[in-house]
Amino acid sequence: MTTRTGETIEIDTLIIGAGQAGVAMSEHLSKLGVPHLVLERNRIAERWRTERWDSLVANGPAWHDRFPGLEFEGDPEAFIPKEQVADYFVAYAEKFNAPIRTGVEVKKVERNVDRPGFTIETSEGLIEANRVVAATGPFQRPVIPAIAPKTEGITQIHSAEYRNPDQLPEGGVLVVGAGSSGVQIADELQRAGKQVHLSVGAHDRPPRSYRNRDFVWWLGVLGEWDAEAMKPGTEHVTIAVTGAHGEKGTVDFRALAHQGITLVGLTEAFNNGTVSFKENLVENVNRGDKNYLDLLDAADAYIERNGLDLPEEPEARNMLPEPDCMTNPVLELNLAEAGITSIIWATGFAVDYSWLNVNAFDEAGKPAHQRGVSTEPGVYFVGLPWLSRRGSTFIWGVWHDAKHIADHIATQRKYSAYRDPSQL
Ligand SMILES: Cc1cc2nc3c(=O)[nH]c(=O)nc-3n(C[C@H](O)[C@H](O)[C@H](O)COP(=O)(O)OP(=O)(O)OC[C@H]3O[C@@H](n4cnc5c(N)ncnc54)[C@H](O)[C@@H]3O)c2cc1C
Repeated sequence: MTTRTGETIEIDTLIIGAGQAGVAMSEHLSKLGVPHLVLERNRIAERWRTERWDSLVANGPAWHDRFPGLEFEGDPEAFIPKEQVADYFVAYAEKFNAPIRTGVEVKKVERNVDRPGFTIETSEGLIEANRVVAATGPFQRPVIPAIAPKTEGITQIHSAEYRNPDQLPEGGVLVVGAGSSGVQIADELQRAGKQVHLSVGAHDRPPRSYRNRDFVWWLGVLGEWDAEAMKPGTEHVTIAVTGAHGEKGTVDFRALAHQGITLVGLTEAFNNGTVSFKENLVENVNRGDKNYLDLLDAADAYIERNGLDLPEEPEARNMLPEPDCMTNPVLELNLAEAGITSIIWATGFAVDYSWLNVNAFDEAGKPAHQRGVSTEPGVYFVGLPWLSRRGSTFIWGVWHDAKHIADHIATQRKYSAYRDPSQL
């Protein structure tokens, strides 16, 4: 399949990255008979192995968070531990003999000037490819906001570096960010006996399960995973979900507070060892509650419209009383006086395409594409947030995006191979 000309490998399509996106791309290209190669700088699905905390389990049940072609072994309602998620992708790649080379990093991709295709510089030499697919992930570079204090003596890590409570020094922790990572880490630290402050911004918090169906099912039947764009004004709204406590695991900020976590509003600034929070905790929690209740309403309406026989669950609408940290919100906190010795920044990730030197980015430097087909002919992106829909970064969503991109590649190959009658 691959031809060697001296040091340079020639291949039709090069996929960069062997996470779920790269594996899905390889499966679809294999089915279409497109010669390709996947380069992965570490191991298959490396991020699941070494770039996430030890206790992480998939956010969705096994029957849902998977590719169509392979089921997880065991209970389909289980939430699969991260190592097994990684093993799943290794097994999946083996299933169709995916041409993946691990331990090879792509350092630079450039469009050829005097001939079609791209020259790719890797840690193991040069590659010539007609097409490249960037499958390097939606969460490449941990982002810590500029407000992070320069104060000595405070341990600061990003959620991507967090592994377990033992890693942190004695003392309290401020977790900044209450999306799925922040709430899970704060919960784990509090249960391990730490004093935890959790800084909460705008979020959605779907019920883990309602009327015997997991929220992933509800979002599916209600068409939410297929939403093509974020609703206006929700660009900074994160989703707070966890698989850590099974079907009982609805993220409920009031419950986290009653459990012993001190909730605070959005983190605003650090000055001389004192952190200040916006006065928006109550607003943020109420907004999340509304999102939760709206989903219950939509689920009830769906059940009624379709005449489904699912048990009623009125108690799902009971809200816990407002905890003290909501009635008397903390707006300022001296870190030393509060005994806080570490800060975990669960503040998300950015992409990094500094190695992709092609005309596939807009003025703001963001990938310019339509469903992954970029503005630079022959360059594709897969796995990005909202690539085609809400589900695009998730295991079950990326597979469908990869299929579309593989189809596009196969069609382009057909055009390239075409010869008019005079050439035959
Ligand atoms: C904490 C957390 C929990 C999540 N839980 C779930 C969940 O439960 N269910 C779900 O569906 N989704 C979940 N996601 C979202 C998503 O499924 C994962 O982020 C997933 O890892 C994305 O897969 P990917 O293949 O797009 O990217 P990645 O997994 O990031 O894979 C990209 C690969 O590219 C490699 N790479 C990068 N640059 C280069 C280079 N220059 N040369 C060669 N190789 C390179 C990397 O080593 C990496 O292996 C979670 C995300 C996070 C952060």
